[in-house]
Amino acid sequence: MRRFVAAVLLGLPFAAVCVAQDGPAPQSHCVKCNGHGQLPCPKHGKAFELESGALVQWCSDVLACKACEGTLHVDCKVCRNAEVEAALEQRRKLAQEWLAERKKHVAGAPNIDDFLYLSTPHFDLSFSIKPTTVGKKKLDTHALMHLYGERLEALRDDFARTLELTDDDLPDRCRVHMFRASNDQAVIGPKETGFGNARAVGLKQMGPEFVYSMWQDLRSMPDDEGLHRNIVHHTTHLLLSQMKPMLWMGNRKHGWIDEGLAHWFENRIDGKCTNFCFEEVLMQPGAGFKGGRWQTPVRKLVDDGEAASFAALSILNSDQLTFEQHAVAFAYVDFLITDRGGAKFRDMLRLLKQGKETREVLQAVYGLNPLTIQPAFEAWVKEHYSLQPGK
Ligand SMILES: [Zn+2]
Ligand SMILES: [Zn+2]
Ligand SMILES: [Zn+2]
Ligand SMILES: [Zn+2]
Repeated sequence: MRRFVAAVLLGLPFAAVCVAQDGPAPQSHCVKCNGHGQLPCPKHGKAFELESGALVQWCSDVLACKACEGTLHVDCKVCRNAEVEAALEQRRKLAQEWLAERKKHVAGAPNIDDFLYLSTPHFDLSFSIKPTTVGKKKLDTHALMHLYGERLEALRDDFARTLELTDDDLPDRCRVHMFRASNDQAVIGPKETGFGNARAVGLKQMGPEFVYSMWQDLRSMPDDEGLHRNIVHHTTHLLLSQMKPMLWMGNRKHGWIDEGLAHWFENRIDGKCTNFCFEEVLMQPGAGFKGGRWQTPVRKLVDDGEAASFAALSILNSDQLTFEQHAVAFAYVDFLITDRGGAKFRDMLRLLKQGKETREVLQAVYGLNPLTIQPAFEAWVKEHYSLQPGK
């Protein structure tokens, strides 16, 4: 429905011309609107480009505009164009319906009046993160929300491109709630995900709906990089789970893949991994492994013959992995994707999700087994991970 209306709005200049040819329709000569019957809403200044970009379906900041009420356009007062006016009215109505739907998911949050909302082609975001310095620029909450909308879409693109997936492989939207206050997460996190731990910094639902709800605990996420890694890590879990056939692999003894892949995308941001999916109560804020830079420590583990064996690693669930095993799991995923390619990794995921045994799948996809994969991995680590940090 929304798509249809958008098409109608986009098609307006053409429609206006057609009407003009059919009879005397002075609006086609209106110099004020150039015959469009509407004008860009003047209240958004530079943000107009941002709000009308391809990645923005709806933004609550635009809905709050008294002049256009979410449509980004205002009726031309000089001429009359009934079709345009009807389309604008319809879009105002859809905007309100969208906002009501977004608010439904955060109803009962103590600070709901501070929330902003954004919908992009694949994500619905609720947002109240404090203004943050990104690079050298200070972004207010609204601009930051748009940045996270772009980052979420960029992650989905990267995920699909890396694993050579089609749109059809990732059929579901994700809801992401990013709160500045822990008391919002305490109410909404459990409600939205079905998990009861109100103290958790982040909670996920990995099917049949895909939801990540979190608050920015500054002890573990003191800056934009930390927050960005958190969102990428946990959203990767949502994407991996929804990838057809839908299944959360983390409690099927495939923790090394579930966590390893989330770390792999997290690591792509700035070479660090700082997020772990443990029971929250066990996790001290800021706890981690070797400052989050894992290649050198994994190389040392391999050199010393102390890296977890694949046979031991590949029977654990996500929440059973130690910090060290998280790092080794990341490295196995890095080896398989970097050395053997994303398409094979995708094939492995599909077969494992169908319930096939790891042994069988390794053989079918890679011609390896749980014993032979280990020397291949270790040789690769010795070749590609430096003993000197940062090399
Ligand atoms: Zn006009
Ligand atoms: Zn906006
Ligand atoms: Zn406006
Ligand atoms: Zn995780």
